[in-house]
This record gives sequence, C-alpha cells and structure tokens, in this order.
Amino acid sequence: MSAPNAGLPRRRIARVALDVPLYRLFDYEIPDSEEVDAGDIGRRVDVPFGTRARLGILVDLPAGSDLPDAQLKPLTAVRRDLPPLPADWFRLCEFCSGYYHAPLGEVMLSTLPAALRRVDPPKPREPKRSAKPSPAQIPPTLTAEQEAALARIAEAGEGFSAHLLHGVTGSGKTEVYLRLIERTLQAGGQALLLVPEINLTPQLEERVAARFPAAGLVSLHSELTEAKRARNWRSALDGTAHIVLGTRLAVFTPMPDLALIIVDEEHDPSFKQQDGMRYSARDVAVFRARERGIPIVLGSATPSLESWANATDARTPARYALLTLRERAVSNARLPTIQRIDTRLEKLQNGISGAIFAGIEKRLARGEQSLVFLNRRGYAPVLTCTACGWISHCPRCAANLVLHLADRRLRCHHCGYERPVPKTCPTCGNQDIQPFGRGTQRIEEVLAERFPAARVLRVDRDSARSRKQWEALLEQIHGGGADILVGTQMLAKGHDFPKLTLVGVLGADSALFAADWRAPERLFAQLMQVSGRAGRAELPGEVLIQTQFPEHPLYAALVRHDYPAFAAQQLDERRQAGFPPYAYQAMLRAEAPQMADALAYLKTARAWPGIANHPDTMLYDPVPMRLARLANLERAQLLVESPSRRALQLFLGEWREVLDTIKSPSRLRWHLEVDPLEF
Ligand code: ADP
Ligand code: ZN
Ligand code: ZN
Repeated sequence: MSAPNAGLPRRRIARVALDVPLYRLFDYEIPDSEEVDAGDIGRRVDVPFGTRARLGILVDLPAGSDLPDAQLKPLTAVRRDLPPLPADWFRLCEFCSGYYHAPLGEVMLSTLPAALRRVDPPKPREPKRSAKPSPAQIPPTLTAEQEAALARIAEAGEGFSAHLLHGVTGSGKTEVYLRLIERTLQAGGQALLLVPEINLTPQLEERVAARFPAAGLVSLHSELTEAKRARNWRSALDGTAHIVLGTRLAVFTPMPDLALIIVDEEHDPSFKQQDGMRYSARDVAVFRARERGIPIVLGSATPSLESWANATDARTPARYALLTLRERAVSNARLPTIQRIDTRLEKLQNGISGAIFAGIEKRLARGEQSLVFLNRRGYAPVLTCTACGWISHCPRCAANLVLHLADRRLRCHHCGYERPVPKTCPTCGNQDIQPFGRGTQRIEEVLAERFPAARVLRVDRDSARSRKQWEALLEQIHGGGADILVGTQMLAKGHDFPKLTLVGVLGADSALFAADWRAPERLFAQLMQVSGRAGRAELPGEVLIQTQFPEHPLYAALVRHDYPAFAAQQLDERRQAGFPPYAYQAMLRAEAPQMADALAYLKTARAWPGIANHPDTMLYDPVPMRLARLANLERAQLLVESPSRRALQLFLGEWREVLDTIKSPSRLRWHLEVDPLEF
C-alpha cells in the first residue's frame, strides 16, 4: 500500500500494550499481509520483543510513530479467536494504571486468564455442556426491609448510583442481590457479583444458579483450571454468561452488557490484592460502576469504615445511599445473645472458662453444635526451653515457629519454613521444652479430653488444606457428624450451620491494643461474623466472649449488635488522629538482604527535593516493617500521607518516576502501594 502522492510507502502502525515493567506502549508496523482496522482494537496480537515472541493487546492504530523505520518491527499476527476487549475495559485498566501507578501493559495483561495471555495457549477443548438445572426456584416473599431497600435502589434510576447495604447476618442481603440480578437480566444486562473468598463461591453459586438456571452463570476464581477459567472469562466477554460470580480479580472481567455490580462482604480485606498491582477490588468496582454509569451495591453486616463514612458522613454529602436491614429475614429468627466472660474473675482451665465448658455441655445434652473460635492455628504459637530461655525462632524471618503437634513439626506461618520438633533444647540440651500459648490444635485436645464422648472437629487451614478436604469437613458438620467445632476465621464466614447454637470466642483481646490501628475494625467484623453463625430459625444462639477487658467499647457495642455505635466511635478516633478515611495514604516498601540497603533506598526517596512543590503531602521517616525480616529479606517502609486524594496522586505521579531512577543494590526490590491496609 502506498500513499497517493508522496510516493513513499505509508507505514501502518499498531500500538501495543505488553506485559513489561515499563511505563510505555510499543509501536509495531502492520505488515501488508494483515488486514487491520479500528474494529481490531482490543484484540490480542503477537509481536517480537527483544529475542522472543510476546503476546500483547492492540490499543491503538495511530497515524504515525516517533520511531524511525529501522526500529519499527512488524507485528507477527492479530488473533481473532476472541471478541475485542471493549472500550470500557480499556478505561478501567487505564484508571488502575494511573491510580495504582502500575504500567498499563502489566495491568491489562495481568487481568487476562493465564491461558489467554500465553504465546502458546493450551489446545482448546470443547466445553462440556453441563445439563441445565430444570426446578427455577421460587423466591421468598420479601420482608418490608428488603422491599424498602430494593425500592430505594430502583428510585435511583438508571446511571451510576452507589448503595451501601448494611444488614445483620441472616437479614437477607443475598435475597436483595438476587432480586437486583433478576431485574438486570430482565433488562438484558449482565451482572457482576464479587465475593471475598473462594470458599464462599460454591454455596452462593448453587443459590444463584438455582434461581437463574438459564443465565449462563460462570464463576471466576483462582481454583479453576486454566482452561476453565479462560472459558468462563470468554463467555463473559462474548455475552453468553449473564452473571459472573468471582473473587477480586473478576472485577476486571470484560462484560459488554454489564449493568449491575454487587460486592458482597465489602469490608473483607481479601478484596485487596497483596502483590503485583496492589488494588482494592471494591474500590475498582466503584470506579467501574461510575465509569459505566450503572448501579453498584456494597453489602456487609460490618461495612468498612471507608464505606460507612461515605454513606453517613454528615459534613460531606453522602456519596453512598445507606440501606439498612435490621432484622433477620426468617420469621422468628433472632440475633444471638452476646455475653462477655470476664476472665479476670476466674481461673481458666487450659484457657477455657467454666461458662464455655458449661455451655458446651448443655449443647451436647440437647444434640446441638458448639463452635470454639480461636483465630490461631497450630498447637502453640511458640516452643520454649524452661532452662535457658530458647524459643523457636524462624531462621528466615523475624517471627516464631509455630508448634504443630498433629504432624510434629515446627512451622513458620510467614515463609513456610518447617522442621521436625526437636526432642531436646537445641541450645542447652534440656529435655523440658514446653509449648507456650494456645492454638486450635491444643484447644481441640483440651475439648477432646474434657468431653471424651463428643466428636470434636477442628476446621482451619491445616485440616482443610484442599478444596476437597474443606468440602468434606463442611459435609460432616452439616450431616451432624460433629458436636464441637474448633475453628479459625475459615469457619466464621458465611456458612449456615442450622444446629450450631453456641459460639465461644477465645483470644480476641490481642487485637484490642494491636499496633495496627485497623485491628479493632477487623476484630469487630470477625466477631460479628462468627456470632452470626450461632442460632438460626427456631434455635436461638448464644455467644460467649472471653475477655480481660469486658468494659472495652468494642465489646460494649458488640453485645448490642450495634455496628453504627462502634463505627461512630472508631471514625471519631480516626478523625482526631488524622487516619483514613480522613487522610489518604500510600506506602513505599523496600526489601533487601541488608536492612541498611532497604532503609537507604527509602531515605533517598524521601530526600527528593521535588517534595517542596507538594506542601499537602507528608512523608514519614523510613522504618523497618513490623515483620522486619521475611524469608531472609529485610523489609522497610515509608508512609506517604495527604489530606487530599488528588494531591497525593499528583505527588505519586511525579515521585514514581524518581523512584525508578534511584540507584540501589541489584537484590533490592521496592513497590508502591496506594491505600495500604496493612502496616
Ligand atoms: P444474608 O446474606 O444477609 O446473610 P441471606 O440472604 O442469606 O442473608 O438470608 C438468610 C436466610 O434467610 C436464608 O436462609 C434465606 O433463604 C432466608 N431469607 C432471605 N430473605 C427471606 C425472606 N424474604 N423470607 C424468608 N426467608 C428469607
Ligand atoms: Zn535450653
Ligand atoms: Zn519464616
């Protein structure tokens, strides 16, 4: 092809996003053999890059390129096996690239299923068509509160609107989601339903599929096989799947007819990606809804304080509409009574109070189930020598090795290091080495000794390592094959155990005064959630919380099921301290074999003179992280804070370029996290 007059061959340029850590796109020449037009933007392309072939995404067909002819390589092929990625998906990736300061190509490619971003994809298999369920399930009559919530959302009309659905556990939030999805499907739209945990997807998937058997529901999470994930993703993109149910990465699923987003358990920290691009799927979802002009519903019994402030802050106009479900949906089902057991007043037996033992005994006599909740797995958090004071340190981390008696190992919960339990003290040879403190395995042992006739079942990440084991445990519980459950937060979330009427909580106090100022927020959510497991329908539930601080305001609000009071008190503290949501933060972290190198990098970053042009941005001193050594790397961090999100973003945009140019030892790694959750 040649330009009409110039006589010179006119280059046709393809601009391509590649999965490389560079803040730029790449131009290629389109060979004469390829027919490419604007309709191909959003398709995957094969291109040469360095010495190898790479898969990229065609993002533009610009009129020209700054590259001289000699440097312009031809692209190899345009793949037309999928519909092009839609324009709003591009904008979503661009937003994330800008907001989280991650290269656009990395953002785009990392959200694609692995099978679709490989140069050599696995051979496609014909999807197995599962038989469509026939019974669509009949929905219950809505409660007045559910009706009101749905009416409010409907009133908001078309276009963007954000709603915070605050409903106690069992109040029928899921039913509200289902009705919203129903409306969306009737109007020909697609719905995206995000959940925090893979473990929660099977039962929800069943419930949604039973209600909408013809909607082509697909799930997207990391436990699917690569091929299945690619297939599901593809049916979202080509519009055959009308409902997508997924964990955080699913927020990036391209959906041409997307008309509704729901984020269930919106407060859950699992929505935060902790490596690569550290995004919050909830925040991305809100952006996506606004960008697309569609409603979004964030649901929770214990909303994040960010969302709560967005819905209730009296001083700024509420950005989210607040919808409240106060009562449990099933008639007669009441919220459990929550009581504090003051552990200062009695001598505990192996960490357990008389009230909890008595409560369990009562349940055993009635054929009901009890749950003892302790968010610490293993037998004991540390093994110690009574003679010389040796304690079981992880050789690779600034952390202790946890004693796991079930398989007689010492194990690091941070890096995975493990070794057999020593018979004698490694330092002095003393034979009297003792476990210190208690984990789920020890509590399991204590309960089995105390109630020899009862079936005690431990549910934590050690007993439920695989999906299969987890499902087997759930089945055992549901089938009445367990009398006493000992569990971590794995059991706290979302599951309905109709025979469970007692929850005993151990070891909660440690989060009250933790250095991490978000710890109380997480503790409250966790305790509400685990309390929600107790009592359904006709069997009322009872929750007993062991504490040395019964008068603490967190527990006081908890026993009244009073999330708003707790949130108000926390927000007050945060406002006074200038913490989020009343400030915006970013964290620069560096890790290196030597702490001095990590700190030196951060100090250089902090000394950037350009900060003078950003009076609203505050840089704190670099400090070692709380877990200062992880897997033989020393870690340090530098907190950046601003009262304005925009000011922070402007600063980060400039600073990020500076960070790239700071000289550092080759084994130093750094990353920038916007809106960090962990400190
Ligand atoms: P949440 O998501 O708030 O925990 P769910 O939607 O799971 O609550 O509802 C809790 C229980 O109440 C479920 O067993 C559900 O089937 C039932 N339920 C929900 N809405 C109604 C209703 N309007 N009438 C009767 N039962 C309901
Ligand atoms: Zn010793
Ligand atoms: Zn370790």
